Amino acid sequence: MATSPTEIRALTAAAFRAPQKFVDFCRNGGKPLAALINGEEVTGTMNTTFQTIDPGSQELLATVCEMGDAEVDLAVEAADKAFRGNGSNGWRDMGIEQRIELVNKLVELCERDRDVLLACEILDGGKVSELAEGDFGQIRACAEYFSDVARRIALGDGPSVKVADGVRGFTYREPWGVVAGIIPWNYPIVLTSWFMFPALLSGNTILIKPAEDTPLSALYIGKLAQEAGFPRGVINILTGRGEITGQSIAEHPGVKYISFTGSPGVGQAILRTCDRHGTRMKREMGGNGAAIVLGDADPGMVARMVGRLANQHFGQTCCTIHRIFVDKKIADDFIEAEKAFFADLKIGYQGDSGTQLGAVINPTQRRRILKAEQETIARGGKALLAGGNADVAGRNGFYLKPSLYLTSPGLNVNPDEVFHTYATICPVSSEEEALHLANSSPYGLGASVWTRDIERGVRLAKQFHDGTCQVNCHNTIAYGLPYGGQGISGGPGAGVNCEDTFRDYTQVKSIFVSDYPE
Ligand code: NAD
Repeated sequence: MATSPTEIRALTAAAFRAPQKFVDFCRNGGKPLAALINGEEVTGTMNTTFQTIDPGSQELLATVCEMGDAEVDLAVEAADKAFRGNGSNGWRDMGIEQRIELVNKLVELCERDRDVLLACEILDGGKVSELAEGDFGQIRACAEYFSDVARRIALGDGPSVKVADGVRGFTYREPWGVVAGIIPWNYPIVLTSWFMFPALLSGNTILIKPAEDTPLSALYIGKLAQEAGFPRGVINILTGRGEITGQSIAEHPGVKYISFTGSPGVGQAILRTCDRHGTRMKREMGGNGAAIVLGDADPGMVARMVGRLANQHFGQTCCTIHRIFVDKKIADDFIEAEKAFFADLKIGYQGDSGTQLGAVINPTQRRRILKAEQETIARGGKALLAGGNADVAGRNGFYLKPSLYLTSPGLNVNPDEVFHTYATICPVSSEEEALHLANSSPYGLGASVWTRDIERGVRLAKQFHDGTCQVNCHNTIAYGLPYGGQGISGGPGAGVNCEDTFRDYTQVKSIFVSDYPE
């Protein structure tokens, strides 16, 4: 680590104002934004709409139509027809290079309208531009990775083997058919890409259900997909609340596979629903990430690195750090540096230059976070920074101060995911104690060790009960390596972003062929 501590700062906003194309898209000529089903705008039979707002100002961005059972039926029918075609000309029959060409065209259109998609993430999602720009880059990175995987992983017949005299067998791999992606509000562009590209490139047609707080990115990508020339029904965007639209998708037996990212409670409920009619499901869920800081680490520098990561999207990142275990030898210096880093975060509107800590996504989240702060104290945590509401002049958003607590090994002050720049610091006497405490959580998404001794770090990292185990880094993703959760944070199946993800979007049958009995 040759970085100087002063170079390590929180992700920061550049000034951002809505481009006219985004404003026009949201206004939609004075009509609510419709869902996209079978290549057409559908306002829905429920005559229900919901509003999506800028969390930093509570200004209305767009009114959006909600889809119910009738529209989910329509979308499943359209997606199934697009999948099969007339028997030989469906999406499943299209050559891989043709599918890749359409995906590439879509990526190019996203890049042409980069400003509009950044506006969706920054204004609808409440992100600072530095993070939104990184997220935007995932569209191309994800499309290119899965295009490459699609060229390598053959669908269709596997090698034939003799299984008995006169009997041979082989595998047959094919797409599921109609699949769905149910997406959380915090990373809409990233998760739309992570679900859509492997699903489409492996030959499925898809229903995408964006979160009600951030539906704009997926709706805009759906619009661009039409312009790119995707056949009708291949990509359908179904907007609405989880308990209405999401529930209806989960209950539909025509949806053969669901990829869900969101909270553990919702994921568990959807899995139970899917199980009733045999829909397969993959879940990536919440976390309560741990960081272990060993005694040989530079406390000032590591505190700033950990602080930067803990504040990514204002702590509203699934895998990020909320529990810190630091060697007693360096605890005082670490705590002082972490407290200074958290306290110095510039709270402000996410579209104003210099903002590092913007508003949380909605009033429910704000209430939950304030309650969690009180509970942390009630469980014995000692406030280093007490959190609470924050004011930003001229902006009526959901602003909160960062919070940081001191705790000790006997206390369990931080049992649940608190989606904010919120962390507890627990001084520990040994690496065994740190590991035991880090692993004493039902979540298992991401954890890290911070040390100069890489070998020791790797040895400890391997012992985490998490899907992503890191040394001197956190919130790390890379295409080709699975990103998934253990415990209540994920499963079944492999994580996302790897070859297994692509395979998860396919089913494998064994075909046995015996000679005709004479
Ligand atoms: P959420 O579980 O409330 O909602 C996720 C999605 O599920 C939304 O689209 C919602 O409308 C839908 N939904 C809600 N109830 C439903 C139901 N009964 N049936 C079908 N669909 C339903 O989560 P959220 O608040 O949008 O997102 C935050 C959560 O997501 C956090 O727990 C975070 O850690 C997690 N997350 C995990 C990852 C990961 O990769 N592991 C990534 C991002 C976010």
